[in-house]
Amino acid sequence: MDKRQFLKGSCSILTGTMLSRLVSAEQQASPAPRTNWSGNYTFHADHLYQPATVEEVEQTVKHCDKLRALGRGHSFNSIADSAHNQISLQHLDSIALDPATKTVTAGAGVTYGKLAPYIDARGYAVHNLASLPHVSIIGACATGTHGSGSHNGNLSTAVAAMEIVDANGSLHTLSRAKAGNNFLGSVVNLGGLGIVTKTTLNVQPTFQVAQVVYENLSMSHLEKHLDEIFLSGYSVSLFTNWQNHNINQAWIKRRLDPGATSVAFAPEFFGAKQATKKLHPVAGHDAEPCTEQLGIPGPWYERLPHFRMNFTPSSGNELQSEYFVPREKAYEAIRAVEELRDHITPHLFVTEFRTIAADNLWMSTCHNRDAMTIHFTWKPDWASVKKVLPLIEAKLAPFDARPHWAKMFTMQPSRIEQLYEKLPDYQAMLKHYDPNGKFRNDFLNTNIFGA
Ligand SMILES: Cc1cc2nc3c(=O)[nH]c(=O)nc-3n(C[C@H](O)[C@H](O)[C@H](O)COP(=O)(O)OP(=O)(O)OC[C@H]3O[C@@H](n4cnc5c(N)ncnc54)[C@H](O)[C@@H]3O)c2cc1C
Repeated sequence: MDKRQFLKGSCSILTGTMLSRLVSAEQQASPAPRTNWSGNYTFHADHLYQPATVEEVEQTVKHCDKLRALGRGHSFNSIADSAHNQISLQHLDSIALDPATKTVTAGAGVTYGKLAPYIDARGYAVHNLASLPHVSIIGACATGTHGSGSHNGNLSTAVAAMEIVDANGSLHTLSRAKAGNNFLGSVVNLGGLGIVTKTTLNVQPTFQVAQVVYENLSMSHLEKHLDEIFLSGYSVSLFTNWQNHNINQAWIKRRLDPGATSVAFAPEFFGAKQATKKLHPVAGHDAEPCTEQLGIPGPWYERLPHFRMNFTPSSGNELQSEYFVPREKAYEAIRAVEELRDHITPHLFVTEFRTIAADNLWMSTCHNRDAMTIHFTWKPDWASVKKVLPLIEAKLAPFDARPHWAKMFTMQPSRIEQLYEKLPDYQAMLKHYDPNGKFRNDFLNTNIFGA
């Protein structure tokens, strides 16, 4: 009898002792509230299970009537929370690279920060990264997390397969090659489908990137040259505080040709001047946590994110919101939001515009459309931000803006429903795989099932 059969056969005997061991020691010893990364959200779950093996994940799923997976807790809203139990798979941290299929398979505990140097050292890269490497691969893919680059899909578009424990505690493998439509519904899954134990990502040969920052790009250039500006690098981010019709910083990240030791950047870019010292996107913040700039080449994973692995990313104590608008209407959308500048700027650290390529994943914020995102890093004042978001959402309504699943929004479920043509299929899939709603939480009940 192998270990899994033994555990299955002995479930009723083992469950009590094993599960109490799996509940976080910290949780039992200290009643201190657990929060997300930003500290703006306190989790309600009484129990945090921390299994060390897939078998323990299966046992935990069987044991719990209600359960929600927690990745690295970087989401700003209640998406990873549960009124009952959470499970963290951070101990499942295996990584296996398969050069034959050009894929890497990583356990659910693996962050991009851990994956990237591992695959880079073996000659490989993933196509893109978010602004920070600290998030788990599975948590990021579950919410449609993205970087920038007009030809780059969000991070979940690299997923080739997933291993998932369903509501019965049974393990399944879903792959792009075999699962067909179900796969398209299961990658950006908002944590609702089951507990993902492993994910397999497509990789490509490693590459070098250099980035520079240009200061003070007039926003009016975006009217006629938006595509050209966003195509001027492999990944481009524009930062603004919405004042003076000005892009304060344009971050341009270019890939080096294989074997090249540098890539050219002109001293001026649409009238903006190349910075001569390293900058933080938020004016006045120390640039030390930021990735290398000034055109100095380095590995993809040390340039594509804005923030370095061993530093506190972004501002730290902050809130974030982000809206995805169709690329062809991006400038109009920017102009619409700009009308609110005097409502926005007092509460803002910085806004960032990025582009992402369309995909076919049902619940992806880029489903069937090339997107530009309008992102807001807010000061940690929810009372004020909560008043501004409906104004922004009203301005963006004509553009069918989709909110980032993992950030703060105030959009009504009835509106969200109109934005995702595959929502009924996704609802049906959740009902099929999880008929009793084991993996549902308030976030899903509200935003997906409109309850
Ligand atoms: C400073 C900062 C910068 C950010 N930058 C970006 C950015 O550049 N681009 C962007 O798009 N987003 C960005 N985000 C948002 C972030 O990428 C998402 O919140 C992401 O989901 C966080 O991953 P996580 O591992 O913390 O997951 P969590 O927040 O813990 O969970 C997210 C979702 O994944 C589910 N989940 C996690 N693990 C599993 C599992 N094993 N099985 C099933 N479901 C699971 C959870 O249930 C939840 O629904 C940023 C966030 C912060 C705090």
